[in-house]
This record gives sequence, C-alpha cells and structure tokens, in this order.
Amino acid sequence: MHRLAQLDHAHVWHPFTQMRDWLRREPAVIVGGKGTRLRDAHGREYLDANSSIWTNLHGHRHPKLNAAITRQLKKIAHSSALGLANEPASRLAAELVRRAEGGKRDEKPAGRAAAGAPHLKKVFFSDNGSTALEVALKLAYEYTRRTRGAKSKPKFLSLAGAYHGDTIGAVSLGHIDVFHRAYAGMLFKTNQVMSPYCYRCPFNRAKPERDDARNNRKCHWECVGLAEQKFSAQKKKGQPYAAFVFEPLMQGAAGMIPQPVGWLSQVTAIARNHGALLIADEVMTGFGRTGVGPATGGKRKVEPLFACQQEAVQPDFLCLAKGLTGGYLPMAATLTTQKVFDAFLGEYEELKTFFHGHSFTGNQLGAAAALASLELLETETSIQQRTRLEKQLHDELQPLWTLPNVGDIRQVGLVAGIELVKDWRTRTPLAWRERAGIRVCEGMARRGVLTRPVGNVIVLMPPYCTTKAQLHQMISALAESVVETFKTRQ
Ligand code: PMP
Repeated sequence: MHRLAQLDHAHVWHPFTQMRDWLRREPAVIVGGKGTRLRDAHGREYLDANSSIWTNLHGHRHPKLNAAITRQLKKIAHSSALGLANEPASRLAAELVRRAEGGKRDEKPAGRAAAGAPHLKKVFFSDNGSTALEVALKLAYEYTRRTRGAKSKPKFLSLAGAYHGDTIGAVSLGHIDVFHRAYAGMLFKTNQVMSPYCYRCPFNRAKPERDDARNNRKCHWECVGLAEQKFSAQKKKGQPYAAFVFEPLMQGAAGMIPQPVGWLSQVTAIARNHGALLIADEVMTGFGRTGVGPATGGKRKVEPLFACQQEAVQPDFLCLAKGLTGGYLPMAATLTTQKVFDAFLGEYEELKTFFHGHSFTGNQLGAAAALASLELLETETSIQQRTRLEKQLHDELQPLWTLPNVGDIRQVGLVAGIELVKDWRTRTPLAWRERAGIRVCEGMARRGVLTRPVGNVIVLMPPYCTTKAQLHQMISALAESVVETFKTRQ
C-alpha cells in the first residue's frame, strides 16, 4: 500500500463512507489532475465522470482559473468580510446579480435599469452548499416573523426525497430517511410534498409531456394537484408556508429525478399565490449544468446559467455553491431580494442585524476563481462544448435501454442518472445489501472511470471540457460494468 494511503487509513474519516469497507482496500490517492483526468499516487489515470462530486466545471488545472487565483495570491489570499469589503467579492456579487437576471456580458447597466431593477439584488457569501441553504432558511424565517408578526411560526415545505446539505437546518429540510432519520430528535419539523418522480409515480407511469396512450397511462398532473392541496391546507390553518424549498429541474441526491417540463413553473406559481417565498437550491443545477437550452433560428437564446431561468421562475433566494468557483474552492452564495434585505435594516440598538457569518465569508481566492469561471462560461467555446456534450450524452446512453437491469435513463442537460433495477419490466428496486450501485462504480473505476452512485442510480456529470472520446469511454465503462455486475451477482 502506498505510504499516503497508509496515512489516510490511519487518520482520515471520509464523508458518506462506511469506513469498514474503506479500510478493507487501498484507496486511490489523488495527486494530480488535468482537464477531465485525475492521477493517483501510483500514476494510474482516471476520468472524473462526476466532476469531483458535481463541483468541477471547466476541468482541473484550467489555465484561466489557475492564472486568476495566482494573480489574486499576489495581492492577498484572505481578509475578513466582517467590517471590510474586498475587490473580487464586490465584483463577484455584481456579476452574480447580473447573471441571475439573465443579463448578457455586453449589456450596459442603464439598459437593464430600463427593464426594471433586478429581483435578486443582494448576495450573502458563505462556504458551501449547506451554509448557502442555512442562510436562506434563517433569512426566510426571520423575514417572515418580521412581516407576519413575531408570534408567527414560519413553516417550510420541501420535496419528497429532498437533500439540501448536512448542517442541522439543511438536514431539517431533507427527506431522505437513511441520511436523516438518526438525527430526527435534533431537527425542526418541515413538511414534504410529492416530487414528480415519473418513473415511480403512484398515479400512472407516464410522462406528462409524452402521455403513453398505448398503455392507457395518462398524466393529469396529480403531483401539482397535491402541491396545491398542501399549500391551501396550510393557509387554511392561518399559517401559510413561509417558504417552498426546491431543487429546480432536477433533484440530485434524491436519485437524479428530473421534473417534467412545466412542473416547476406551475408549482412555484402555486407557492407564490399562497404567500410562500421561493428558495431555489441550485447548488447542483447552477452554472449551466441543466443545459444550454434550444437554439432558435440558428441563433442561441441568452444562455440560461441557472435552472430556474429555463422555466422563467424568479426565486426570492438563489443558493449557489459547488460550481461557483468552477469547482476549485469552497465558496457559496445566497442571493436575495431588496425586500428581504430591507427587513433587516434598522438602528444599531434595534438589533435587526442578520447575526450570521463565517470566518471565510467573501474569500478573495474563491471570488477570483468564480469571476474567471463566469467569464469562461460565457465564451462561445464553452457553450459549444456543452451543446455537443449534452447531445452526445443523450445519444450514447440510448443503447443502455436494452440492458435488463437498466430501468430508467434520466438526463437534464449535462446530468444523467441511470437507475438500476432488479427487472426493468416490473421496475422492482434492488436490495441495499446487493450494493449494486457501488459495485457498478467499482467496475467503472477498474476501467479508469470514477463516479459515485446515489443508491442504485449511477451518475454521469462530466466536466465541460470532456472530449468526445472521453465521454465515450465513460459510457462504455458504465455499460460494461453493468453487464459484469449483474452477471456475477451473488
Ligand atoms: N444542495 C444540493 C442540491 C446538493 O447537491 C448539495 C451537495 N451535494 C448540497 C446542497 C450541500 O452542499 P455542500 O456539500 O457543499 O454542503
């Protein structure tokens, strides 16, 4: 075993990992990377097929990102945001507001002002996806108390299978039993509403946009109806939901569950009509992950950077992390409105301040990387790369439908989830003890492709710089490993 692996085994406790399994074998110790490739301490190379747990956008060691960080390092790495402003964080906040409004790079601020002030105007920086959600949660809670009265008890509604992070507030919003049940005693109660998991829909098994008339399956948007019932029941109690929390277009850790076209705009409109604020968790979906959208007449529409924009949804809180810095550094942002901001204004002694913050809030290195990443996302090369990848991902996954243990193949933009089942005809789930998702990923790793499953869903989320040949290798490794795993099932 490599001496670095020995050190790891001796001292490191890994996230979301059964450490008994971990200690049974030598881990890959990553010592380098370039583009889509990662290299371990033995010199073996792998493709980073889940963009280092959904964070990396442009590839590892990108010259533009490296240069931006190096330039910033020559000035300063970090100074506190408690009492001080800094250069890259100020610039980044303005850029995020512009992009959240769907603004183009060459747009003059005056032009935007004519179209109305931006809805999302203020940016609160923090360190990771969980803290981005904590900030939104605390702001929404206190905003509601200040607007509805201090005695009101703000309640939150999130989606079945929701995952919004691992800090206590974020866990309270979550509805994944295996992760969250153990901590139930520490959590505050939130309600959940059915998510549009069409593949396992209890009402039918049709996709609303593609009614399966042959099998007599019709979708009547029962999930939207249920959401409406939840919001109106809560309103009738005299305690309308303070906020609706959701991942737009695709739920990640729930199992890569895409929302049928129109679901997001309908449910968020219902939430708004019932007085709820909208908290969009774009920790996974942000920064182009959900696709570049259709081209119109040879010309591309303004490229949507955030999933909400694809259904013209304007959240009151937009939570960003992971890809914010191109996946380089731990940094997060919670964007919110002038209205929410104003509710926290007052004289010092009124104690209306938002008493929340982290030591590394607004970190300069992270902000410098984020600015460079946003610039890269706007380049024609990046847009072309993503357009090609999205299509190739779709085309190359099609042959996998013929594998008997592939139940569903779900794709939104540059994210794909392949759900493994016992039998595709019955959609019977595989038992936990079979560790099918893990075993398929182990087989892929032996073929030089790294990813992690969510349960029995295999995730493909390639960095945007992934070449045609590299994506082909990822999908071939996946197909071969599925065949191998189920042939050798114990
Ligand atoms: N929200 C979503 C949608 C996520 O996918 C994640 C992480 N997978 C988080 C929040 C939490 O982010 P972090 O791990 O950076 O705390």
